[in-house]
Amino acid sequence: MKIAIVQNNTAESIEVTRELKELLDNAGIVVVTHQPDIIISVGGDGTLLSAFHRYAHLLDSVRFIGVHTGHLGFYTDWRQYNLTELVDSLDNDNGEFIDYPLLDVEVIYKNKLKNKHFLALNESIVKITDGTLVCDVYIKEEHFERFRGDGLCISTPTGSTGYNKSIGGAVLHPRLEALQLTEIASLNNRIFRTLSSPMIIAPDEWIKIIPIETTKFTLTIDQLVSTETEVDYIRFRIAKERIRFAQYQHTHFWDRVEDAFLGAKSKNEDRMDR
Ligand code: NAP
Repeated sequence: MKIAIVQNNTAESIEVTRELKELLDNAGIVVVTHQPDIIISVGGDGTLLSAFHRYAHLLDSVRFIGVHTGHLGFYTDWRQYNLTELVDSLDNDNGEFIDYPLLDVEVIYKNKLKNKHFLALNESIVKITDGTLVCDVYIKEEHFERFRGDGLCISTPTGSTGYNKSIGGAVLHPRLEALQLTEIASLNNRIFRTLSSPMIIAPDEWIKIIPIETTKFTLTIDQLVSTETEVDYIRFRIAKERIRFAQYQHTHFWDRVEDAFLGAKSKNEDRMDR
């Protein structure tokens, strides 16, 4: 088995990576940068996102593991105190994994410019910061609405706890095969109208966004940010590819949500209320 490690640069991550490499070395497990079987990220969810994009070309053959060095993350299960257990699990690996949906983003340009294709683990956002984004939203090639506002976010189930949640989107269980479309500051008055609530798109549907009047906007793919012009349309759908996580232990999803967003404080308050 070959392992690649992607870490952030905090003192704790550097220390955890050093300890992990030592344990892997003692177990005779090789650390590589090219063609790994398993990628271990050491840091937070942001570090796991970086690891995903670095190795996205190997999705068919790799599995990911997240070791978190900050607070509990959504993609990161392991801690410094159970590194020995992690290396034992790698040593006894049977190829077990759990996989989750990804977002496929296709940008189609006018004037025969070369189209772009991306995979997002969390979300893709179309937005502008000066003026109003005006675009038509199609669902499965059927016109749904004309959107006016700051932007639109399309997220995966695992990305639903990221930016999507901050703009009022629902938290989706990651076993669901769905995409979520969430508005950012839509204009709603007697003249302009949008649905004004997050929408969950079924697996056989896709979302198409056609910029109208807006000639320049920002497109994000997780951490990647680009300025786009000359765009004919952008199509978002559930990708054929999925991300696989080596599953040696299981943290219940709703426990993770509670821990990350409500924490011990809410439990104490709850106890005092009773
Ligand atoms: P960042 O701006 O450095 O950090 C954004 C925060 O979002 C970090 O605390 C990160 O957790 C957390 N995060 C990332 N993915 C998450 C997920 N799936 N569920 C819950 N929290 C998540 O950006 P970054 O670390 O490079 O990550 C980019 C992602 O951050 C974007 O894809 C977006 O979802 C999210 N983001 C959110 C907001 C917001 O909520 N207003 C703003 C910017 C970006 P860690 O600390 O564990 O890394």
